[in-house]
Amino acid sequence: MKKSEHPYRILLYYKYVKIEDHEEYAKLHLKFCKSLGVKGRILVAEEGINGTISGTIEQTDAYIYAMRMDPRFRDMEYKIDEADEHAFKKMFVRPRSEIVTMDLEEDIDPNELTGKRLKPKEFLEAMQEDNVVIIDARNDYEYDIGHFRNAIRPDVKNFKQFPEWVKKNKEMLQDKKILAYCTGGVRCEKFSGLLKREGFQNVNQLKGGIISYGKHPETKGRLFDGKCYVFDERISVRVNFTDEDVIVSKCKHCGELSDRYINCSNDLCHDQYICCEKCEEKYNRACSKECFEKQFVVSS
Ligand SMILES: [Zn+2]
Ligand SMILES: [Zn+2]
Repeated sequence: MKKSEHPYRILLYYKYVKIEDHEEYAKLHLKFCKSLGVKGRILVAEEGINGTISGTIEQTDAYIYAMRMDPRFRDMEYKIDEADEHAFKKMFVRPRSEIVTMDLEEDIDPNELTGKRLKPKEFLEAMQEDNVVIIDARNDYEYDIGHFRNAIRPDVKNFKQFPEWVKKNKEMLQDKKILAYCTGGVRCEKFSGLLKREGFQNVNQLKGGIISYGKHPETKGRLFDGKCYVFDERISVRVNFTDEDVIVSKCKHCGELSDRYINCSNDLCHDQYICCEKCEEKYNRACSKECFEKQFVVSS
């Protein structure tokens, strides 16, 4: 691995592979992670593993090395970000029924049914073709601070609603080249499988997700507008390293362009919302007039 000036790394990874007795595996894996000193959040299910952790270069190297010793995870791919400190406060390994909650009535095994995986450069080229439809397979608040140019923001509250959304939008998607993407690729494995099961032929997904796309020397994140939401203390990261880097989201209070997500200072609310620096000070981090007034009631 290449030399770095930053002492820490953040890993993002997943693999759909059968894990027998995943609850027991989760316990052992937590012990192992704690012994290494890495921090983060890992979901373990019978269908596979989905994790993001931070640690020193030595700690994260040791993690990757140990995982490669296990035949199930030998070819697991890691998205690696450099950092100056941990991106998590604690270490969790949680047993789950799925590594991304989709709750499909009829589950999909991406090892059997999934869309064509496009490399970053292929995805960039495909986005510029005619007759394509780009679908953001993430949550709405993730789309709001950054997304691929011209991507559709499905009006769903969670992944569970995607099958219905697909059925409702059949006409719009018909005979199109479909390009789906998400943060690291894990959600699209099943989402693109779902599209194929619904009968769409030309279904493609961005391999490695937005995170890989932004690091790729041939794309430099081109055509991604705004920032990429991430599930650690950084909250968002830059993707577009060309001169076309822009801000697409607005401060909830004043409407000025801003890509800062903060948590409301009212402990009873704690909502994450977009707020510019000026308004953060003016409203004492509160997300609304009600929360602004309430925080003084709570603290007095
Ligand atoms: Zn503002
Ligand atoms: Zn609030």
